Amino acid sequence: MPENSIQLSDPKISGNEWKYVKECLDSNWVSSAGKYVDLFEEKIADYTGAKHAIACVNGTSALQVSLRLAGVKPGDEVIVPTLTFIAPVNAIRYNGAEPIFMDADNYYNLDIKKTILYIINETVLKDGYTYNKNSDKRISAIVPVHVWGNAVWLDKLVMLCDERNIAIVEDACESLGTFYNAGKYKGKHTGTIGKLGCLSFNGNKIITTGGGGMILTGDESLSEKAKYLTTQAKDDPIRYVHNEIGYNFRLTNIQAALGVAQLEQLPGILKRKKEIYDFYQSTIENIAGLSLSKVPDYAHNNHWLNLLQIDSKVYNEDREVLMKRLEENGIQTRPVWKLNHEQKPYKGCQYYKVEKAKKLVDNSLCLPSSSNLSNENLNKIVSVLNG
Ligand SMILES: *Cc1c(COP(=O)(O)O)cnc(C)c1O
Repeated sequence: MPENSIQLSDPKISGNEWKYVKECLDSNWVSSAGKYVDLFEEKIADYTGAKHAIACVNGTSALQVSLRLAGVKPGDEVIVPTLTFIAPVNAIRYNGAEPIFMDADNYYNLDIKKTILYIINETVLKDGYTYNKNSDKRISAIVPVHVWGNAVWLDKLVMLCDERNIAIVEDACESLGTFYNAGKYKGKHTGTIGKLGCLSFNGNKIITTGGGGMILTGDESLSEKAKYLTTQAKDDPIRYVHNEIGYNFRLTNIQAALGVAQLEQLPGILKRKKEIYDFYQSTIENIAGLSLSKVPDYAHNNHWLNLLQIDSKVYNEDREVLMKRLEENGIQTRPVWKLNHEQKPYKGCQYYKVEKAKKLVDNSLCLPSSSNLSNENLNKIVSVLNG
C-alpha cells in the first residue's frame, strides 16, 4: 500500500503531547513514577466518572488484573462474546480459567438475551455461587465488550449477575467517550458499571499513549489492590517483601504525559468522529447493497470505528472483492475479527447458540475512521464504494 494511503485508525497528535513528553525528559522522570501517571489517572477518573482509575501498560494487562481482582480463579469459567478482539479471551486464560463463548447482537455486541437464557437454563446457584450444569465448574465472571464503541445494554444483565454472584468486568477498550442516554445507567460511561472496567490507549484507539491501559472501579479496596498488583506487589518496598505474586504492569510517566495531552484533545476527536459517522451514514445509504452498521440509540456513541455491511447479491461484489478494490485505491479496510470459538487455542471450548456472529463476520468491513481523515479522503472512499 502506498505511503499516502488512507489508514483504518490513525492517532492524532495535535495538542500538548510534545510539551508534556519534553517535560518528562527534561526533568528525568521517565519511568513509572512521576506526576503524569497520577495526573492521567485522576483525569480519566474525572472524565469517565469512575471513582478510581489505575494505569496499566496496556488494555490486555488491565483485563488480566481485573479478572483476578474480580475473583476469577484457576479452573473457573468466564462468559465472553465470541465476536471480539482476542485480548479479553486471552486474559481469561492468563488467569487459568476457561471461556464460554456467546453470540452477538445487531450491534456486534454480546447478545444479552441469549446470555440471560444461558445463565437461567444452563447454570445453577449453589452455596452462593453459579455453576455450569454441564461442566460443574464455577462461573465467576462475565466480560461484556463494548465493540467499536457500541455500548452493551447492561440493565438486565447487572441484575441477574448480582443475584448469581457473577462479577462483571467490562472491556471498554474501544469505547472511551461512550455513555448511556437511557435506562438505569443514563449518564454513566461504559466501563464504570461493572465491578471493574478496562480501557486501552493503544495506537489505534480513540486516544493513545503509544501503549497503555486503565482499570476503572468504584471499589476502593479493589483500586488499592490493583495498584499493588500492577507494581510487583510490594508489601515493604524498602526491604523487598512480597506477600503475593504481582506484575510489572505500571504505565510510565512518558506514556502518561502523552495520555494527559491526548485526553485534552478528546472532545475535538469525538466531534470529528461523529462528523465522519454522519458523512458515511448519509452517503452510503444511497448505494444499493451497502449500509452503515447501526449504533445503539440508548447510548451516546464515540463512533470509534465505522462498519460497512455488504449485501453481496445486490452490490455485486462480496467482502473480499470490495476489500481488494479499496486496497488498490490506497484505502485500508479490515474484516471483522475471526470468531474466537474458531481460533486454534480456543477450539473445543464451550459456546452457546452462536448464529448471528457468523453472519456479521461474513458481510462486514471496517471503514477508515481516523479523526484526522480529511473531507477529501472521505469523498474518495465513498466514490470508490460507488464503484
Ligand atoms: C485494543 C483492545 C484490547 C487490548 O488493548 P491493548 O491495549 O492493545 O492491550 C482489548 N479489548 C478490545 C476490545 C480491544 O479493542
